[in-house]
Amino acid sequence: MRADKLLANTGFGTRKDVKKLLKQGAVTADGEKVKSGAVHLDPDTQKIEVKGEPLVYREYIYLLMHKPAGVICATEDELHETVLDILEWEDVVRSPFPVGRLDKDTEGLLLLTNDGKFSHALTSPKKGVPKIYEALLDQPASKEDAEVFSSGVTLDDGYRTKPADLQRFPEDPDRVRITIGEGKYHQVKRMVEAVGKKVLYLKRIQIGSLELDEELEAGEYREMEEEEVQQLL
Ligand code: URA
Repeated sequence: MRADKLLANTGFGTRKDVKKLLKQGAVTADGEKVKSGAVHLDPDTQKIEVKGEPLVYREYIYLLMHKPAGVICATEDELHETVLDILEWEDVVRSPFPVGRLDKDTEGLLLLTNDGKFSHALTSPKKGVPKIYEALLDQPASKEDAEVFSSGVTLDDGYRTKPADLQRFPEDPDRVRITIGEGKYHQVKRMVEAVGKKVLYLKRIQIGSLELDEELEAGEYREMEEEEVQQLL
């Protein structure tokens, strides 16, 4: 891997920071100074040190984002801003991708990683990891709607969803909390449409036991803690 990419992957800052470190002669491979970011280094076979400290290489990155409305869950797109466009360069170099998809107009909890196994564990329909959404509807949800959800909803294409939970709030009748364990295209919106209503606003607030970090404003993100990663596996 290129020296600049390796250093960014291991948390040594932006492209500029990394360049500076290399220029200072702070990076060595098997005792030899590495001056250029283009030099290829192998953390498995070479002894790499930064300012005399051994470099700890982390292959995977796990990010927790408060996705804002207006950006799409893709790694690149010519027309629209993507969730990757929000990331800092040093996070992008590890090539994370979004775990599952939220619609362009949906906000809330989105995870990004370059760990395919982690992503699969959260998105595989077989695992059925619950995802919780808060929605604002164009009219109040009824007790009957909640009953239909609990036995599975037949969507416009004939697919019958697995049982889902629809929680109502009597003091705020247009608001619902919906829990689903699968992730069909526009699933929440289509389930709501199947009971004759419309979703006006949608936000994912939880995946499995992991809640959206309320400290993060829409458009902000942070690395996940090791325990947060483990609790989802
Ligand atoms: N269901 C939807 O309809 N949209 C989303 O973004 C997520 C779940």
